[in-house]
Order: sequence, then C-alpha cells, then structure tokens
Amino acid sequence: MAVTLQTELSRVLGPKTAAGMADQLGLHTVRDLLRHYPRRYARRGEMARLDDLRVGDRVTILAQVTSVNSRRMRQRHGTITEVTVGDGAGSMKLVFFNYKHARLTHGAWGLFAGTVGTYAGSLQFTHPDMYLLNAADENDDDWARALVPIYPASKDVSSWVIQKSVKLLLDGAGGLGSLVVDPLPEEIRARHGLLSLPAALLDIHRPTTVEDVEHAGHRLKWDEALTLQLTLAARRRAAALEPGTARPVKPGGLLDAVDAALPFELTEGQREVGQELAEELSREHPMHRLLQGEVGSGKTVVALRAMAQVVDAGGQAALLAPTEVLAAQHARGIRELLGPLGRAGELDGAADGTRVTLLTGSLKAAARREARAEVADGRAGIVVGTHALLQEGVEFADLGLVVVDEQHRFGVEQRDALRAKGSRPPHVLVMTATPIPRTVAMTVFGDLEISTLRQLPSGRGGVTSSVVPMGEKPAWLDRAWARLREEVAAGRQAYVVCPRIGDVDGPDDEPEDVDGAPENAGGKDRRPPLAVLDMAEILRAGPLRGLRLDVLHGRLSPEEKDQRMRAFGAGEIDVLVATTVVEVGVDVPNATVMVVMDADRFGVSQLHQLRGRVARGKHAGLCLLVTETRTASSTGQRLASVAATSDGFELARLDLETRREGDILGSEQSGRRSGVRLLSLLEDEELIAAARAEAAALLATDRGLADYPGLAAEVAALATDERAEWLEKA
Ligand code: ADP
Ligand code: MG
Repeated sequence: MAVTLQTELSRVLGPKTAAGMADQLGLHTVRDLLRHYPRRYARRGEMARLDDLRVGDRVTILAQVTSVNSRRMRQRHGTITEVTVGDGAGSMKLVFFNYKHARLTHGAWGLFAGTVGTYAGSLQFTHPDMYLLNAADENDDDWARALVPIYPASKDVSSWVIQKSVKLLLDGAGGLGSLVVDPLPEEIRARHGLLSLPAALLDIHRPTTVEDVEHAGHRLKWDEALTLQLTLAARRRAAALEPGTARPVKPGGLLDAVDAALPFELTEGQREVGQELAEELSREHPMHRLLQGEVGSGKTVVALRAMAQVVDAGGQAALLAPTEVLAAQHARGIRELLGPLGRAGELDGAADGTRVTLLTGSLKAAARREARAEVADGRAGIVVGTHALLQEGVEFADLGLVVVDEQHRFGVEQRDALRAKGSRPPHVLVMTATPIPRTVAMTVFGDLEISTLRQLPSGRGGVTSSVVPMGEKPAWLDRAWARLREEVAAGRQAYVVCPRIGDVDGPDDEPEDVDGAPENAGGKDRRPPLAVLDMAEILRAGPLRGLRLDVLHGRLSPEEKDQRMRAFGAGEIDVLVATTVVEVGVDVPNATVMVVMDADRFGVSQLHQLRGRVARGKHAGLCLLVTETRTASSTGQRLASVAATSDGFELARLDLETRREGDILGSEQSGRRSGVRLLSLLEDEELIAAARAEAAALLATDRGLADYPGLAAEVAALATDERAEWLEKA
C-alpha cells in the first residue's frame, strides 16, 4: 500500500493508537500527524528550571536515574520504591507503590511525565508515566546532548507513542521526500531562504540542534501564514469584483448640510479618512472597510458624513449599534445635528431633507410598523438600529451603506450575511474602538481594508488612571469617593461600574459581558463580584449620600435604559452605577469620573473602553480601578499597566498576551490548541506581512492558484479545517 498524506492513520498505525489519536488529539491522516509538531524539546539541564514548577503542573522531564531505593512500608502492606532522577542541573523524586521496573536502574535515562506533587518539602512525581531510553546500545552522552521531542499528548496517547508513530513516517520506504510534496513555489522559498517541506518536517520532529528547530519552525510558520493570507486575499479579491452601486458625492445636499452644522472643525485624520471613504463609495464595487480609532477619536462623524453622501446619491444608510441604548443615542445625536433636514415629511421638516428612523426590537407594534414602512418605501434615508435590524428581515427600498459601530466581534460570517442583503451588496463600514494590532488586522480582519484615526480631537482633557488596592490600602477607597464628590461638586458627573447586576441568584446574574479577563480571574473560592444593585445601596447610604444616583443595567427595559441615559446626559443624575452597558460608545461629555469596582474581573481592552467614557469633553478625566487583588500579583500588574498606559495599541497587545496560557517547561495539556499551530500573532508580524505580500502577488492574475496546485490544496484544506473558526474570532 502506498502511503500518502491522505492515508488514514488507522492503516499505518495500530488500531488502538490510531483510535486514541483520532478521538483525543483530532489526528486522522498522515498529514495531520506530520503537522502535529512537538510542543517543546526536552534536554538535559532543564531541571534547573524545576523551581518554576508549581504543584499540579503536568510536565515531562528528561533525566537519569541516580538512585533506586525499595523498602517495606510500615503502616501499610507492600513496598515503596523511591527513585531519584537528575540531569546534572536539578533532581527530583519518583515514588512508586508496590512496583518495580526491571529497567529502572542506576544510570538509565528516561522521559518521566507526571503531575508535580510535594512530599516533605521536595518535588516529586507519584507513579509517573515513563519511557526508558534504550541506553544499552547507545552512549549516555548521546542522551545528555539529545533534544527529545515532547508532543502535545493525551491520556491514552503519550508523547513517546507519538514520537514512535512519527518515526514510522519519517523513516518509511522512500523517506519523507516521496511522501510529502512541497506546496511552496521554489521562487518563494528562495526569496525568503526557506527549507523544503520534507527537510523542515524532518527537523521539527527530529532536530539535532536548537537551530534546526528554529529554521524548521520558520518554514512551517510560513505555510500557515501563507495559506491564511491566500484565503483572505481570495476573499478580498472576490469582494472587489462584486458588483455594487456607486454613490458619488452630490454637492448641495445632506452632506454639505452636515458639514455646515458641525459645531467643530474636522481633525486632519477625519478629513483624510473621509476622503478615502468618499472615493470608495463612488466606485461600482462595494466598499469593505474597517475604521479603527481610539475611543473618542470621532468615528461617528466620519460615518455620518459617509451616510449623508449615500443619501444624497439616492440610497439609504443603516447604522447598527451593539445595544439599544447606543442606537437610541445615535439616532438622537444625528437628528439633533440634522435639525429640520432630518424631519422630511413633518410639519417643520425640510422638503429636501430625509428621515432618521430608529428601528429597534423594543418599539411598540404600531411604531414599529410605521418605522418599517418608512424603511421599505425609502422615506427613511438613515436607519438606526441594532443588529436585529438585519436579522429580522427588514426590507429596505435601496440599502446603499451599512455602518457597524463599535463591534469588534463582528466576524467574517456576519459580514458575508450583510453582503447578501439586497440584489446588489451595499457598501460596508465596520468601526471599532479596540485598536487592532497590525498582525490581527492582517489576519482576523484580513478581508477588510483598514483606515485608522490616530489623533483625538484637540482640546480634550485626557484621563488620569490609578489603581485603588482596597485590600492593601482601604483608605484609598475613601479618598476615591471623596474625589468623586469633589467632581460632582464642581458640576461634573461620574460612573461607577460593577461586573454584576445583583439581587437575584442564578444564571440571570452572570457577569454581564465581562470579556477577556484571564481565565483564573474567577476562581471558585473567590467571593462573587460586586453587584450594581448592592453597590448603589451602599453608596447611597454611605460614601455618596446626598448625591443624585441611579442605576443602569441589562435587566432594565429598553425604555428605562434610554430614559436613564437621557437623564444622565441631561445632567439630572450625578452618579450612574452601571454594568458594562456603558462600555461602548456612550457619550456624555460632562462625565469625568469612572470608578471600576473589581477591576480585576475585566479584560484589559474592556477597561480601556470603559475609561474612554470619561473626559470626552474639555474637562480632565479620572479613572479609578478598584481591586482587592494584590499589587504584586500578575493581575495586579496587569491593572497597573492599564493605569500607566493610554496607548490602546499597546494595551491590545497586552490583552493578547494575557489571554495566552502561561507555559513553563511545557506544562502538558491534552488536546490541541485551537488556531494555527506555530504562528504567533504577537511575534511573527514580519513573517505575516511578508506572506501577505506574497499572497497578494500570487493572486494578482486571473489564473489565481491554477499554477500552484499544492497551495490550492492547502487553502482548500484550511477551509474545511477547524482553523477556519479562528477567522471568525476577534
Ligand atoms: P468615537 O470614535 O469614540 O465613536 P465619537 O464619534 O463619539 O467618538 O466622538 C466623541 C466626541 O467628540 C463626540 O462628542 C463628538 O461630537 C466629538 N468630536 C468628534 N469630532 C470632533 C472634532 N473634530 N473636534 C471636536 N470634537 C469632536
Ligand atoms: Mg462611537
């Protein structure tokens, strides 16, 4: 039987091993196994790092037996065998009960895998899995020098079983060269100094030196990056060829009116991006653009001007907000700005104007019917709503532009759904205030063109942030409330944000949309996070007594939410105690204080977003991150970084880093990591950029990948792979 990359592992390996690999590791074919790369390489000398290990970590070590001791147990029946292993740099104890391994003798080298425990103050493994290396016919020194691959393993398929299985493939008849065809075109390999695929696979699975691993890894990352970029480039290309409707600028219309009504000068960035959008909207292919800009950088105006252009050209524009509160706020803001021009058909409306229609799920039946009718017959030029707007199958007369506001979790799939709206796909503008590191932009959002607003409108007060460690320095919390009172006394307003609503038990009271906090942030033994309703009571009765205080959270009806936001905006409420519903886009320029309770329960980007709610006007803002976490802990440090940095890009990076699992000495974890195997969004920026350029060049002609069947196959495989899921995630 000729083995190929597609051959099922069950035909190459024993049935039990193959079943274990399929069920527990998701490895089905020869290709899967060859692409199952070692997590790390064990080598002598690493045991010096055993100090870093914590009880409970699963690790594999390469070590030599230095002593074996068996004795009868006093309390119980049977024997206990204590084996000391070391690697010249460190040592630890292995403990076995009623067990004696004939080959476990002084001087033997082996791989030992187990869960770290302690006994009498020193680290030990109890009944570790082990694989004794065949020292009989080899020199001990070989093992002392060797790099032993440690694979992501599972309960029934140990690292060394994988190693043996891979060996079968590497050493099979004809060698790897006959099994693996390199999909990478020779020119690309030469241009970037990359190993051939067979050579890279050989070196990653069986390296002699650390350099081997590096070179091989670099080449294999290229495969991942290029396949990904080809997929994205194909999407961009397909999108660019889609027929759309040109919506060119028409002077003397709504756009000019908007410009005349703006109470400020546009920033240079706003003008530049505006120009970019204006040109793209004038083309006969739909725009697919991401507009990123710090909180408060003035994205809304940019979007509004694009919407006005589309209305002037006879089309309709939809603005989608993530929450009803925001949708209502947008509709209100746009109506105010447009004045009579936004009230066509009403008594005081301008005849040449349009209508701004708010269409949300909570409208009463009659109002909703009326709104739908306006949208369907085209009277509504600007339609504001939540995502439900699109899902509910609302009919548009002529949808020309969809703007998605503040939605960084808007995946490729939803964007595709949007494009399917109407006979001709509308132009699409996605806006996000979560700065996106370049590599993420090139991957997760790789099918979009990107514009960035770097500059904040001038005259902003800026935000000062501090951590308030209420466990270590309770007095600081009193000081925090005092500061808040001072601001209110000076006529300003404040938010107090809590992770939870409170008042009921059960699933309804899960933290509201708390996103991106490290996984261990909600350990079982911790008290529940502070709740809005409790906090409001405490503040009313104590530290903030006498202030006008109200609450805002997701359990209120949309009318109540809107009414409270409106009251806060109008200055009728001093302090709004809220969940993260205030996170996105809420705009009350007079609010200057943001107190985040249990700040450690929030993710880095989320804190940055929250902070962006204050100092949107001319007054300086204050953000206080209140936490019980110790300052020295990693979570404490994370909060300190948020307080110290106002650069959203820097924080987005930090966010990515904290989301990754810590990995000392390759703590084993069964199952595969989702996503690409070797490529790192954080570290491989250059490589990703180079692959992106190559992908664009490869697809520049109409032949596509026709001349590169190997690459085409890789791209096809990605489409069906679980990795495709990764594309959906931001
Ligand atoms: P974001 O990018 O966070 O969505 P917004 O569009 O909500 O920001 O703008 C934040 C605030 O700044 C709003 O009150 C808006 O009216 C104001 N703003 C926008 N552009 C300018 C500008 N060029 N000069 C002064 N203020 C501006
Ligand atoms: Mg906004």
